[in-house]
Amino acid sequence: MTAVAVWIALGSNLGDRRAQLEGGVEALRAADEVDVLAVSPWFETRAEGGPSEQPDFLNGVLSARTTLAPEDLLWLLQRIETQFGRERARELPNGPRTLDLDLLLYGERVVAGPELVVPHPRMEQRLFVLEPLCALAPELVLPGCGRTVRARVAELQAELRTEGGRA
Ligand code: ADP
Ligand code: MG
Repeated sequence: MTAVAVWIALGSNLGDRRAQLEGGVEALRAADEVDVLAVSPWFETRAEGGPSEQPDFLNGVLSARTTLAPEDLLWLLQRIETQFGRERARELPNGPRTLDLDLLLYGERVVAGPELVVPHPRMEQRLFVLEPLCALAPELVLPGCGRTVRARVAELQAELRTEGGRA
């Protein structure tokens, strides 16, 4: 199977955030079927939703090539989350987590299964995904809105400023 270009989002707001994110990247580098191409800087972001008063996140994005099928890549991401201390069964929805790895884009494939939805349905609303993505691929066109990452980031930042001005 030829390798497919993928984008993966990383987040952590529990424990040693940086060590877990970097450990996640290393685990992907170590996987034979995954070739990590570029990793964004880490961005400090406020937690959105979930329990109030939860710690801030560190978020980033990486690009890779993989010969894994989408579902097998998701399975690998979930195994790496577990390896870095994630205990899904004990978590609140949108609650604190040691490591969250989300598959954003898998080439141009559209997947809409019970376990996996790609492109990631919320990525275009999330500055904590788009800002790190913009550091690597500002001209990438987002499939959901047809805008570049750069344009979408500017739009979301402007919306935030307007809301801030109103509040
Ligand atoms: P979230 O990342 O949405 O905050 P979780 O990491 O707990 O929440 O994931 C919840 C479920 O989302 C997982 O069990 C997984 O099967 C599903 N899921 C669907 N699409 C994706 C995707 N593109 N990337 C990662 N998980 C996904
Ligand atoms: Mg997730």
